[in-house]
This record gives sequence, structure tokens and C-alpha cells, in this order.
Amino acid sequence: MTQLLRLGSLARLLCVVLVLTVIGVSNSGCMVATRQPTISQADLLDERRTQVARVEQRLRQGTARVADAAWPILASNVFLCGNSVEHRTGLWIAQPTKIVHTMLGIGKETNTTIGEQAKVWAIAHDSPAAAADVSIGDVVLRVNGQAVDDSNEARRLLRRVMKRHGGDAVEIELARGSDEHIVRVTPAMTCRSQIRVISESSVNAFANGRTIAIHTGLLQFLPDKRDLQLVIAHELAHNVGNHVPQARIRAAAGGLLDVAVAKFGRVWSGGLFTQLGAISFSKRYEREADYLAMYYMANADVDLSNVEEVWRRLSELDVRFIAFGVTHPSAPERYVALRKTREEIEAKRAAGSPLVPERR
Ligand SMILES: [Zn+2]
Repeated sequence: MTQLLRLGSLARLLCVVLVLTVIGVSNSGCMVATRQPTISQADLLDERRTQVARVEQRLRQGTARVADAAWPILASNVFLCGNSVEHRTGLWIAQPTKIVHTMLGIGKETNTTIGEQAKVWAIAHDSPAAAADVSIGDVVLRVNGQAVDDSNEARRLLRRVMKRHGGDAVEIELARGSDEHIVRVTPAMTCRSQIRVISESSVNAFANGRTIAIHTGLLQFLPDKRDLQLVIAHELAHNVGNHVPQARIRAAAGGLLDVAVAKFGRVWSGGLFTQLGAISFSKRYEREADYLAMYYMANADVDLSNVEEVWRRLSELDVRFIAFGVTHPSAPERYVALRKTREEIEAKRAAGSPLVPERR
């Protein structure tokens, strides 16, 4: 037994030596031929701070666009959102984005969180906050007399106060430079969903049941407010329609099948049934979210003419959108469905009928 262990250790040692030799040989084979300028840690940190500031600026600009685009959708569709409603001021307070120092190979002392301070990043047009003396960059110090330490706490406290006191005016103490002042904002009832911008380059957005996240890549692809409203309305429909928890239940049912196959069939399905469970209804949810989104837009008085064009533009960007996806309908299908829904809404408008989605 001891001898076997020794043999095992020897084999491991030989392996390590072999790997190190291979790495050494491959490194010596690709030695670079030039001498480049040396970079100091100070220069690197300086530039890193600049880039972090640029990211924060991009997130703030994106949040301002999202707030303005989202407000009419959220405020005009309360009658379609059922229980999925909440009071809201129209203030968008910073949302933290953590930069992981270990990923960058820089010391822990440079660990950064963008948006940690409870700064106002956006004030939606036509929202109650727009009528109060609030400016972008103001820092929230207290909500109804209760001190807040960071942006997460400020948002949580605001939500809690509005949940408890409904539409009563909220007292918000703000710092603008060295000046401090108090504003009173009477919240409005809106459809429920926290909406945030995430620093990611992919042309994507998603909903998780309570939150809507919009990637900076999508904001860049959709400079038009109306197209952005279509995305926000679509994600809102997922949250209002409770699509995400239902997809999770189906994934859990699929997970049970995975376990059963592993136990009785003695093979691991690789989570296949979990995935199938999650996507089995996915396309139906996507179609429903597109359909409801058009009604949310119509009730917010958004001009719907040629709104479906966005799907042609996405296909131009990436040909894969033309093919049928696993989880989403194809771009041609979504284009045609949006056009048909637009025509349905136009007919209702012409007839003076209420803009309410058709139910089964
Ligand atoms: Zn969707």
C-alpha cells in the first residue's frame, strides 16, 4: 500500500516536470522579438480610473434614456398589469456594478464598485420627481427621515416606504455639492418592474420576474426611443405575465426527469430535460410578450407605425435571427406578428374600441 502511494506520488511528480518542460519549450519557441515600453502600476491605475469613470458615464446616460422610455409604458398600463403594480417616484437611483479586481490582476486596494453612492442617475420626464427640485447627480441622504448609506439601501428604503404608505408624499433629503435640501414627491401608481442598465456589449435584455435588465450593447443598437420602448414593454410583459416563475417550474419538472434517468437509466442526461422543460413554452411566452408589448405601447400613445422594422434590422446585424431559434421565434415570424398586432390595434383605434389585448 505504502509502495503504491510512493509510486503514485512519483508519477504525479513526473507529470508536473513534464508539463513544466512543455511550457518552457513552448515559451522559448515564441519569445517576442521587440522591446516594448514598460508600464508602471501608477499609469495603469490612472487609466483604469479613467475607464471606470467612462463606464459610469455610459451607465448614467443609458439609465436616463431607459427612465424616459420606460415611464409612459409603466404609468399608462396599470389597468393591464393586474396585481403587478407599485408606486414609483420616477427617480432612478444608481445601481452598483462591481469590477472584480482579481479578474484584472490588480491589487485588492483598487477594487471598485460603480454606482455605490446613492446618486440620482435619472429623473423620468413627466414623472412626479420631474416636478420636484431634484437634479442628476444629487445624493440621497434620507428617506422620510431615515438615513441611507448606499444606493442599494436608498432604493430598498424608497420602495419599502411607498409600499407601506401607498401614494402618500415621500420626503427625500438630498445633497447637491455642499448644499442639502428636502423635497416632497407624491408617487404615482405604475406597473411593477425595477429597470436597470448593465454594462455588457451583447444586444440583449432580459426579465427575471421582478427586474428588467437592459445591456449597454442593446442601447447602442437601438438609438431610437420607440424601439427601446418596444424592448422594455416586451420584458415588462414577461414580468406581468409571470412567465419567468412558470419557466422555472417547467425547468424543475425537467430536472426531476434528469434525476430519474440518472437513477434508473444509470446515464446522466447532462441536464437535457431541465433545459427542455425551461424552453418547452418559451416561444409561446415570447409571442405573448411581443403581443402584449404592442398594447402597452399603444396605451402609452407611442407611434406604432412600422415598429416591426426593428426585426429586419436585427437580421441584418446577425443572419442567425432569420432561422428559427430554440427559445425565440424567428425574426421573420416576429416581424409579421408585430405587423398584424399593429393592424389589430389600428382597427380598434378606428372603431373607438378600448385598446385591450384579445383573450382566449
Ligand atoms: Zn422575451
